Amino acid sequence: MSEPDHREPTPLEKNQAVAEWLEFQLRQVRKRIRELQVQDEQERRRRAAAYAAQRWKIQPQRSNATALLHRGNCTLYPTDAGYISREDAMVALAEPDIQPCEICWPDTGLLS
Ligand SMILES: [Zn+2]
Repeated sequence: MSEPDHREPTPLEKNQAVAEWLEFQLRQVRKRIRELQVQDEQERRRRAAAYAAQRWKIQPQRSNATALLHRGNCTLYPTDAGYISREDAMVALAEPDIQPCEICWPDTGLLS
């Protein structure tokens, strides 16, 4: 019968235990970092969507279609750049060769 393990851990065993603990902590920290990165990305998208919702965008004229004014978050003309302000959208709507999109109704609340 071997004696129950009441002896002091050896330096090797102590260091192995510390390494295991540190590796556990590192896994926890990396997991937390991934969670925070996901949160950051969600927040960034939320801000971008909120920003787009308050802007407008112009889809350039093509050979057989007039230029269209869209709300910034209209999915018919996806773009992440080139948003225009409310004032510019009002100016654009007054242009005879720019029509409001019939899906997102960019002129609702704009000219009233
Ligand atoms: Zn639209």
